[in-house]
Amino acid sequence: MKRTAIYPGTFDPITLGHVDVVNRGLKLFDRIVIGVAENPKKEPMFALEARLKMVRETFTDAPKVEVVSFTGLLVDLAHDQKGDAILRGLRAASDFEYEFQMATMNRRLDERIETCFVMAREDYTFVSSRFIREISGMGGDVSELVPATVAPYLK
Ligand code: ADP
Repeated sequence: MKRTAIYPGTFDPITLGHVDVVNRGLKLFDRIVIGVAENPKKEPMFALEARLKMVRETFTDAPKVEVVSFTGLLVDLAHDQKGDAILRGLRAASDFEYEFQMATMNRRLDERIETCFVMAREDYTFVSSRFIREISGMGGDVSELVPATVAPYLK
């Protein structure tokens, strides 16, 4: 039986931390569906279309990875994509509170879908999309922290 995980996020922009989460997820699941959330409340720097393109271009050579956008409930995306689990990454204890609430809420919405956490690679624990936006906005070099596909969008 093929197991599918949904990896949701804003990906504003995608970082090597996100890529690491996907690669860890591929050790556990047969198929990963990356769900790029529209998330207007977060007022993303990149439009949904650009975020989707960056993620798609990053995984063009990964047949087990699919990329979709979504607006509504995550459990609805999981149903549509026949997902068995939700995949999330943890960097530090500060991530835990929010992730715990979200996982508990999603479990209430659908008992069958488990949330599965993978730990960030040590050298990416400090990498976040916000950090990338801020540093590159001030002219800093973040090329070692994002996939090569993202660099042109940051310029
Ligand atoms: P969201 O808006 O849902 O938090 P993000 O794109 O910021 O979306 O993050 C998506 C997921 O990836 C979250 O579970 C987050 O904790 C995880 N993540 C982000 N950066 C890293 C990283 N450097 N290492 C591991 N996990 C990460």
